[in-house]
Amino acid sequence: MNWKRMVQILAGVAALVMAASLPVAAQVAPERPGIPGNASQTGYASAMAKEAQGWLADLIRINTSNPPGNEQIAAMYIAGILAKEGIKAEILDLMPGRSAVVARLRSAAMADPSKALLLVAHLDTVPVDKSRWSVDPFGAVVKDGYLYGRGAIDDKGMLAANLAVFISLKRSMAHLNRDVIFLATADEETGGDASIRMLIAKHWEKIAAGYAINEGGNVFLKNGKVQYTGVQASEKVAFNVAVIARGTSGHASQPTKDNPVVHLAAAVAKIGNYSAPVHLTAIVKRYFEGLAPLEDDEIGKWIRSMDSADRGEHAQRVISDASPLWNAMLRDTIAPTVLTAGVANNVIPAEARANLNVRLLPGDTIDVVLNELKKLLNDPQVRLELQPNAGLAAPPSSLESDFYAVISKVVTQEFGGAPALPFQSTWLTDSAQLRLHNVQAYGLVPFPLAQEDLRRMHGDDERIPLAAFDKGVEVLAKIVTEFAVAH
Ligand SMILES: [Zn+2]
Repeated sequence: MNWKRMVQILAGVAALVMAASLPVAAQVAPERPGIPGNASQTGYASAMAKEAQGWLADLIRINTSNPPGNEQIAAMYIAGILAKEGIKAEILDLMPGRSAVVARLRSAAMADPSKALLLVAHLDTVPVDKSRWSVDPFGAVVKDGYLYGRGAIDDKGMLAANLAVFISLKRSMAHLNRDVIFLATADEETGGDASIRMLIAKHWEKIAAGYAINEGGNVFLKNGKVQYTGVQASEKVAFNVAVIARGTSGHASQPTKDNPVVHLAAAVAKIGNYSAPVHLTAIVKRYFEGLAPLEDDEIGKWIRSMDSADRGEHAQRVISDASPLWNAMLRDTIAPTVLTAGVANNVIPAEARANLNVRLLPGDTIDVVLNELKKLLNDPQVRLELQPNAGLAAPPSSLESDFYAVISKVVTQEFGGAPALPFQSTWLTDSAQLRLHNVQAYGLVPFPLAQEDLRRMHGDDERIPLAAFDKGVEVLAKIVTEFAVAH
């Protein structure tokens, strides 16, 4: 980056920090003195939440669509907010223009890293199709109680909540029983060269922790009320597989039997109708055990029958058909996503390709799936090719840890008795890499969100209800206080 550009960015960041903090600082300042470290932070957290809304709006205004990401500007913004609180944050440059930011509140001069708690969120977002949004995706528009913008939920909402909780610990001069580390990662959405893998490889000593809270789980609503909180303790593993059909190219006026477009289409149709066998992992079993009493009688009955000898298979089909999420929690899934074939309307091409996005349950192996698919396709003209950058399976986080117990207790209290259920996400998060380094990482986006709002993540008109944001900040503050503040 050249110097002139750097100065522009710094000036921009300074302006954002000032814009964000001037009005709110005045509003919050009188509450700062005299807040005991281990008091219930409810009232304070609410004031914090209002302040955090401003940070979230600013973060939305900093476009970090990935690619290219450009997370450095957002990292500098956060470092600026922390600096004003007297917290020295470190910007970790991973690639040109792409940075993470890390900061630490110490519990002791030489604290045990295996006890430390990491608050993780990512700075980057998926891109937008501006033409399909009803508001500016980077305008942080507030309408009818919602804050609109790319990243409002995924993951700038959590980022702002983590920042609020971290700063409230510092302001309250809480006496910590473990180090608390704030980490904003880059390149989560594509998992490339600026991602958590690189951070762990290059800067592990700065983020080493025994516990982490990250995105990955959700507070699930049903009929406007919290039904349960899914606390992510494990996740599926992603692969891409190319389906390649080959044949003889030629004049489209004389069709041939070996036209690769026809063979590919037949292969994709077979794969689309294929359903891998059910495999209940320990976490998914516990999830469904907890879910059965929360569902209506009919669904509850089928959930309970899923591992029965005589009705099991039928029950598994009913549950799989009832919800794409449940279907994907129960089995490996294969989704055709990209088709490529043809050079001209009047030419039969020599090759046609499809991409399959495969999501394996942790513990399953891709070779088994590939063999199954080969048998299913049974076509010598079609072959399968595993693509690079395969996912890595991580061991699940423990459901017996103190931190899991604290999360469960707090969310159950905060959401009117709706229980916490262990959750295995069908989507990927940075937590898999952390789990591979012995971190007990749990996924929980703490905002109670309706299906209608969850659907907009990665979609158009992403938004967060401000009341849900405030509640999430409060819940996260309680979890972290209970776990990391000495009582
Ligand atoms: Zn995310």
